[in-house]
Amino acid sequence: MASEKPENIITVGHDRFGFDSRVEMDTLRSLYLSPSFVKDGDATKNISGAPPKDYGAQSTYDKSSNSIQFTTVAKFPPVKLLPNAERKRILVTGGAGFVGSHLVDRLMLLGHEVTVLDNFFTGSRTTVSHWVGHPNFEMVRHDVVNPFLIEVDQIYHLACPASPPHYQYNAVKTLKTSFLGTMNMLGLAKRTKARFLITSTSEVYGDPEEHPQREDYWGHVNCIGPRACYDEGKRVAETLTYGYMRQDGVDVRVARIFNTFGPRMNPYDGRVVSNFIIQALKGEDMTVYGDGNQTRSFQYVHDLVDGLILLMNGDETRPVNIGNQHEFTIIEFAEAVRDIVEKVQKEQGNPLAKRVNIIHKEMPTDDPQRRRPDTTRAKETLGWQPQFNVRQGVEDRFFSFLVYDPC
Ligand code: NAD
Ligand code: UDP
Repeated sequence: MASEKPENIITVGHDRFGFDSRVEMDTLRSLYLSPSFVKDGDATKNISGAPPKDYGAQSTYDKSSNSIQFTTVAKFPPVKLLPNAERKRILVTGGAGFVGSHLVDRLMLLGHEVTVLDNFFTGSRTTVSHWVGHPNFEMVRHDVVNPFLIEVDQIYHLACPASPPHYQYNAVKTLKTSFLGTMNMLGLAKRTKARFLITSTSEVYGDPEEHPQREDYWGHVNCIGPRACYDEGKRVAETLTYGYMRQDGVDVRVARIFNTFGPRMNPYDGRVVSNFIIQALKGEDMTVYGDGNQTRSFQYVHDLVDGLILLMNGDETRPVNIGNQHEFTIIEFAEAVRDIVEKVQKEQGNPLAKRVNIIHKEMPTDDPQRRRPDTTRAKETLGWQPQFNVRQGVEDRFFSFLVYDPC
């Protein structure tokens, strides 16, 4: 059943650096495991398995008319009542995206005032729609390549497409977002004296010659390849961040995020986790690029959110890797996803008639061959390490309704 939880993990977050970020997994799950219905003729089936709730939102997909109906339930999820002195005004750029929406959920539940800035290029209003209208929440459609004025205490700067097909779709725009967008948000941090955290990426290491990747490795990036708009964009964004720190005293934090997955991933963003899960669910061939011996390490999104909040509130100003250290070859990963999805489908009483095949497709240009974070710095300076392994993440069952979910 979709309401089962990943074993043993009851709470996420930490009470550290004067910032209590602990939230029960059940509360978070109630936000993304919303009831989702599919209407097929006269029959209506709850495909998420999530029970009806008295808050949040639900959707019904009607097969015959290919239409979707959203229903917003009037009550908001309960949030912590913080004293004024502890309540922070927090800006999350890219807050309607995959990672951003989970960060927003956490910060809202903790009782802070949250403003989301997003141009909805790859994000969706539906990811945070359960907060729209809440007195602590504001959503602004805005492109970060243009300046933005607001009074805030903390800025989480996430705005930037993250999947290779999305960031390569308009390479020049990705570069503008990385450079101009980061410059504007750093300018805002300088004016308001807000603390600024940027979500950089393991891509700054390129196709690495050192393994695992430590933060002091300078990387191996092809500056004119198809991935360069993102890799070099994030590299210059980091350069800019430390420029503002040294020249203007801006209080900065830099997270280098490794591959992350979880609920509200855009199911069609072309990244490996969403591709494999969707293909396995639909009974289509799973597409491994190249021979599948390239490696990645996958973290579950709640671990990432824990790491971002710890980094923001701690004292470490150097870049910090945030990722899971368990390394998979892509072919191993395809097999693992196929096994888990099959197991879940069997338990739900709708096994596929036959196993899906794993097929090989051409390897994309400049695809990094090995990637695994060295997370010693995160452990030593933040006390952070991931709690979830891939199986626990995938078994969180968030994907059972991805096929129809428009998020
Ligand atoms: P995402 O594409 O789901 O979210 C990005 C959000 O930024 C979207 O809501 C999008 O609409 C918004 N956005 C893009 N350009 C914008 C602009 N010019 N102005 C305003 N909003 C804009 O991606 P994600 O996976 O949630 O990634 C979030 C951040 O984390 C990104 O900065 C990404 O580089 C970084 N990151 C993510 C991963 C990962 O595995 N998810 C890995 C490394 C780094
Ligand atoms: N990949 C794959 N099949 C897919 C999508 C991706 O084999 O359908 C591979 C891709 O070539 C890369 C890895 O999976 O080696 C991770 O790709 P993703 O796009 O998720 O992120 P990246 O880490 O490359 O930014």
